[in-house]
Amino acid sequence: MKHTSIGVAISLAALAVFAFATAASANHSWGPPYHWARTSNPFTLKVGDNVSSSWDFYLDTAIADWSQSSVLDMTKVAGGTRPKTCRPTAGRVESCSARYGNTGWLGIAQIWITGGEHITQGVVKVNDYYFSQPYYNTAGWRSLVMCQEPGHTLGLGHQDENFNNDPIQPHTCMDYFIPEANEIVHPNQHDYEQLEDIYSHLDTTTTISQAATSPRSWQSAQAPREWGREIHRSPDGQASVFVRDLGLGRRIVTHVFWAE
Ligand SMILES: [Zn+2]
Ligand SMILES: [Zn+2]
Repeated sequence: MKHTSIGVAISLAALAVFAFATAASANHSWGPPYHWARTSNPFTLKVGDNVSSSWDFYLDTAIADWSQSSVLDMTKVAGGTRPKTCRPTAGRVESCSARYGNTGWLGIAQIWITGGEHITQGVVKVNDYYFSQPYYNTAGWRSLVMCQEPGHTLGLGHQDENFNNDPIQPHTCMDYFIPEANEIVHPNQHDYEQLEDIYSHLDTTTTISQAATSPRSWQSAQAPREWGREIHRSPDGQASVFVRDLGLGRRIVTHVFWAE
């Protein structure tokens, strides 16, 4: 699970590449590399469709994009919740769109963790309060957020969180940048490499498509007060990570994409 350095004679160029890769990897996932437990690769993760028709193209694109990974496939299934409440379903991801109001956030991804590292369920929410406004109602913003939040449910963090620096090339939805209005933002090669790294080991159990028995309190993390402690906020305030620790290795991790 940890990166192990390889004892080889390293040229300066190789050293530079290695240092970059290590730094990028370190920035790219939060805490332990959170991941779905599974006994083989590639694994298939179901995504419940609770989004409105204006999001279907972006959800379908994100599912197709993340399925390009060599270690996993995502597949769309009928939604399991009302969009407004967006309750999680054990063993899969629920995606939801609704007018959640003037909450400050464009999008949220939540993952429920057991054993300190295994994702058992995930939720993606996009806030139509903002996406109905002309500034955000573009292919660029919709694809950026609807690609990034599912990426978090796979265990990925951001490649970069500075809105005002040059975008990473090639562009990736795990970067914070202001997309062109008509751009469709996708993952890039580094995201796929990061997934290969996160899912390079196999587990003896699986958390995919498993009905979990869990207390009711485990299910709800709707309101910001239920997100727990803010363990990270990007310098320009656009990205946050909250962790609600429930003890015994169980926690809820919430990634927040704040509106400008
Ligand atoms: Zn594992
Ligand atoms: Zn994010």
